Amino acid sequence: MQPILSCRNVMVDFSGFKALQGVDLQVESGEILFLIGPNGAGKTTLLDVICGKTRSTDGEVIFDGNISLTKLPEQKIVHEGIVRKFQAPSIFLQLTPFENLEIAMKQKKNLFSILFAKMSASQKVKIDELLKKIGLYEVRGELAQSLSHGQKQWLEIGMQLIQEPKLLLLDEPIAGMSGEERTKTGNLIEDIAKTCSVLIVEHDMDFVRKFSTKVVVMHEGKVLCEGAMQDIQENEEVKNVYLGRSG
Ligand code: ADP
Repeated sequence: MQPILSCRNVMVDFSGFKALQGVDLQVESGEILFLIGPNGAGKTTLLDVICGKTRSTDGEVIFDGNISLTKLPEQKIVHEGIVRKFQAPSIFLQLTPFENLEIAMKQKKNLFSILFAKMSASQKVKIDELLKKIGLYEVRGELAQSLSHGQKQWLEIGMQLIQEPKLLLLDEPIAGMSGEERTKTGNLIEDIAKTCSVLIVEHDMDFVRKFSTKVVVMHEGKVLCEGAMQDIQENEEVKNVYLGRSG
C-alpha cells in the first residue's frame, strides 16, 4: 500500500542554518508514527514543512499518492486532508464544546457560512458522535472555560477531526496532563488511527512505549534511525544522542 505521506530529502535552511538536512520519512495509512529526538533535532520544523507553515529549501513532500505539498498554501494543505493540533489549544472558551465543534465544522465549508448556515440534523448527529469519541458528550453544554486541561486538549483534537482529515499532526499531545488524562489520550489516539494516520512529536518516552508502533528518531536535522521502540532503545547511536542524555 502507498504511504499517506512521504517526505523525500527535505531540507530547510534558515539563513544559513540547516535545520533539516535531507529528511526521508514515510507515514503509512492508518499508522501512528512517533517522532522523537532531543531539542533542536528539527521535529517541529518538519511538522511546519508538512503543514505548509515553513517552506522547504529542497526536497519534496508527497501526500496521498501524488499530491505535492511543497508549494501549496497552508489552507490548501488542510483542504487536502492534513490537520495539526498545536500544544496550546485554540478553542473558544466562552462557547460550549458543541458550539466549538459547530464552528469548526462550518469553517470547513467557508467563513461566510459561519454566520448564516443552519446545521442539518445529520450534522448535529455527527457532532454528538465526535463529542462521544473525544469523551466530552456529558459536558457538551458547559462553557469550554470550565473544562479540565485534558478536556480542552481533546476538544482541540475534536476541532481538527471534524475536518475529516487523512493525517493528524500532534505536537506533544499529553503535555501537562494527569496520569488518567494521558491514558485517555492514548486510547483516543488509537481510536483516531482507525480512520486517520497520526504523526506525533512526543518527548515522553513512557507514553511512546505504550504503543507498538514505529518510532523515528531525529538528530541534528536528520533521521538517525527508525523502528520499534524496543530496538530504538538498544541502538547505541540513539543512546548517545538522546536516550542516554535524557534517561
Ligand atoms: P525540535 O522541535 O526538534 O526541538 P526545531 O525544529 O524547533 O527542533 O528546531 C531545529 C533547529 O532549527 C533549532 O536549532 C532551532 O533553533 C532552529 N530554528 C527553528 N526555527 C528557526 C527559525 N525560524 N529561524 C532560525 N532557526 C530556527
